[in-house]
Amino acid sequence: MTDSLVADLLELAAIPSIAFPGYPAEPMQRAHRWIVEALTAAGARNVQDLDVGDPAPTIVATFPGPRPDSPVVLLYAHYDVQPPGDGWTTPPFTPTPYESEDGPAIRGRGVADDKANVIAQLGALRVFDGRPPVTVKVLVDSGEEYGNELESLVLDQPDLFAADVVVIADLGNLRPGTPTLTTALRGSAELLVEVCTLDGPCHSGSYGGAAPDALLTLIQALATLHTPAGDVAVEGLRREPWDSELTEAEFRDLASVRDGLPLFGTGGLGERLWSGPAITVTALDAPSVDNGPAAVQPYARARVNLRIHPSQDPHEAQQFVAQHLEDLKPFGIPLLVTREYAGPGFDAPTNGPAYQAAVSALRAAWETDTVSLVANGGTVPLVNALAASGAEVLLFGAQDNRARQHAPDERVVIAELRATVVALSTLLTELGQRHDDSTGAIGNDPDLAPPS
Ligand SMILES: [Zn+2]
Repeated sequence: MTDSLVADLLELAAIPSIAFPGYPAEPMQRAHRWIVEALTAAGARNVQDLDVGDPAPTIVATFPGPRPDSPVVLLYAHYDVQPPGDGWTTPPFTPTPYESEDGPAIRGRGVADDKANVIAQLGALRVFDGRPPVTVKVLVDSGEEYGNELESLVLDQPDLFAADVVVIADLGNLRPGTPTLTTALRGSAELLVEVCTLDGPCHSGSYGGAAPDALLTLIQALATLHTPAGDVAVEGLRREPWDSELTEAEFRDLASVRDGLPLFGTGGLGERLWSGPAITVTALDAPSVDNGPAAVQPYARARVNLRIHPSQDPHEAQQFVAQHLEDLKPFGIPLLVTREYAGPGFDAPTNGPAYQAAVSALRAAWETDTVSLVANGGTVPLVNALAASGAEVLLFGAQDNRARQHAPDERVVIAELRATVVALSTLLTELGQRHDDSTGAIGNDPDLAPPS
C-alpha cells in the first residue's frame, strides 16, 4: 500500500499548484486533473467541479455507502500549496525521498501541507475498492492557502456539503508517532492603534523633552498589554487549564528560542498556547534605524493581533483590548483604536460517537494507548461553516509539528502518511459498524433479509 501512495505523492507534489495571483494557472489545472482521475479510478461516482474563484476548481466526489441511509462522512483536504520561497536543500517541486531524523520522509513544497492528506484520503478509499462502509464525500479545496470563496459557498449551499461527520485533514500530530486530535482552534482579532501628536516631525534637540512624541506614546501603550512575566494583562479574556503533552524543551526547539531566555507567561503551555489569550504586535510603523532623522515623531501606528479562547466571542474579546487601549491615554494622549478583523475559534465537542470512533481509530493506527488532544493557534473559518449543519468535526491528518509547513524544506514522514490511511479507513469502518449496530441495518433491510 505504502509504495503506491508514495509514488502518488511524488507525482502530485511535483506539480507546483500555487493558487496565488501571479502564478501560472496550468499547474493548478494539472493537479486538478490528476486528482479527478485518481478519485474516479478509486471508484468515485459523482465528481463535481466547484468554481470558488481559483485558477482551477475545488472538487467534490461522492463514494456511495452500502445503503441510502448510510451515514455521510465528508473528508476535507486541499491541493493548492504555498509559494516555495528560498532556502531549500533540494528543489521544492522535485519531491525527494530521504532519511529524516523521524525516519523515511519526503521533502518538497506541499508534501505535508496538504498533499499528504489528499493522498491519505485516496488511500483510505482504495482500501474499500471504492465501496466504503459509509457514504464518503471527498472535498478537495483548490485555494486554502490563498483564501478562496469556498466558505461562502458552503454557507450558501449547505446541502452539497451536508454530512454527519467531517474530517478536516489539514494538520497532523504533535510529533511523529503521537496520534493527535485537534479539538479546538483559537479565534483571532486584529486592532490598529494610532497616535497623532504633531503636524510634522520636529528637531529632537530643539523640541525633544516637551514635544509629545507619538512613537513613545505608542510604545507606552503597547507595554501595558502584558504583565512583567509576559501574561496578557487585559481583563476579560478567557483562559482555562489545558493539560498539554507538549514539553517546554520541545516547544523551545519548535519555536527556535535562543538558549538561556525565558518563555513568555506563566502556567501550563496548553493554557498559554491553546486555551488562553495571546497578544502579539505584528507590525509597527516607525522610521528605520538606518534612515531615521533625529526628530520627535508626529505619528505612529501598530497592528495588534489577538488570539482568543476557542469559545470566547471574538468581538467581545476585541472590545476588551480596544477599551483597555482607549482608556490608557499615556502621557494624557488619546489613542485612536480601529477594530479590524474578528473571527471565531472552534471548540469541537468531545462526547459524540464520531469522536469516540476517531480516538480508537487513531490508537489502532499509531499502535499507542493514548491520543493527545491539542488546540491549534490558527483559525479555520471553513471549519465553522462545515460544522454549521450540525456535523461532528474531527481534525487530524498526516502533517506534524516538525513538518515545516510554509517554510523551506517542508517534509512529510512516510510512516505518518501510512498511519493516516489506516486511521481514516478504520474510522470509516467503525462508523459504518456503529450505524449498522444502532439501526440493526442488516436484519431490517428487506433486500438483505434471509428468505423465510
Ligand atoms: Zn494547509
